Amino acid sequence: MSSPSRVDCRTCQHFRSRPYEARIEGCYLEKNMPSKQKLACLDEQQLPGNHQKINLRGDCPDYAARAKKPSLWERLWALGA
Ligand code: SF4
Repeated sequence: MSSPSRVDCRTCQHFRSRPYEARIEGCYLEKNMPSKQKLACLDEQQLPGNHQKINLRGDCPDYAARAKKPSLWERLWALGA
């Protein structure tokens, strides 16, 4: 029997990293967050879940892979260049 593949938080769409995506690095899935704000202006007050603890064994059931980044050609094509 093959072992299930491990998932990496850094490729999950719920993970936000410092310094560009979030002030505090972690899991921003609502159910994992100890403090959540609905208003975008209060975004700084949010506390993310501890992704290292939640996904300790690499088997997080809430993992959702990030969409693949479009290539340079695809981005230029979208601009109409
Ligand atoms: S803990 Fe789970 S849901 Fe949160 S970022 Fe990691 S894989 Fe995604």
